[in-house]
Amino acid sequence: MHIRKNLYLALFHILEVKNSFEQTSVSIVGMGGNGQLASMILSAYDVNLTIIDGDTVEENNIRRQPLFTRNDVGRKKSEVVFEKIMNRNSPTKVNYMDEYVDSANIGRILKDSRFIFDATDSFLTRELINEYACKENIPWIMTNSYGDFGEVKLTVPGITSCLNCLTNGKNMIPLNCHWENVSPPVPSVISGLGLKLFLDFKENGKLNGDMYFFDFSQYNITRIGANRARNCRVCVDGIYEKINDGKIIGRQLY
Ligand SMILES: [Zn+2]
Repeated sequence: MHIRKNLYLALFHILEVKNSFEQTSVSIVGMGGNGQLASMILSAYDVNLTIIDGDTVEENNIRRQPLFTRNDVGRKKSEVVFEKIMNRNSPTKVNYMDEYVDSANIGRILKDSRFIFDATDSFLTRELINEYACKENIPWIMTNSYGDFGEVKLTVPGITSCLNCLTNGKNMIPLNCHWENVSPPVPSVISGLGLKLFLDFKENGKLNGDMYFFDFSQYNITRIGANRARNCRVCVDGIYEKINDGKIIGRQLY
């Protein structure tokens, strides 16, 4: 049963890649450092871009989130980034949502997405996105920056491993950027690799589901082979606990 489903998913994604990258609907969740850098690069492509964040610009964001100025402090992040993209006068169709993704609204917010770029700072939200992406068969990129560290991973449901294949519901990451300030140069590298994996997948059909772990304090990059877990409850068994868990409301760090 799983073999037949996987063959179907592989064929589906191959056909998707054969379709033009243009007009793809891409949602970027989170407009911090990772998200706004990704949004600026993707806004030079002819894609349908949705940028999502319920957060407000704070003074201490400015150094590592270069789209924001002091004049933006107190304004909604998604709206500010939307305006910056519109000023580029690019072919991108862009809209924004001033919301945090949670278990109650994820189906509505991401329903038109053909690709999801995760730039949140919450492990719980990432798990939720992973479940939704696997349930709806939507490829997604995880990008995570915290302190001097970062992580990037592509998930193509049914083909590569998913986030839960690696974590099995346990947070591998003890830190969060709310606790450890993100080193300002880190998001550009993390976001850049995330985009590279995304574009290589969409334009060339490259499938690389490994996890990349960055330790900027030692200038190290570790590539962690990430095979599918045969007993993964999300991408194999189709159990979506986070989607059905009404506790994830608003912005929670873990
Ligand atoms: Zn999995």
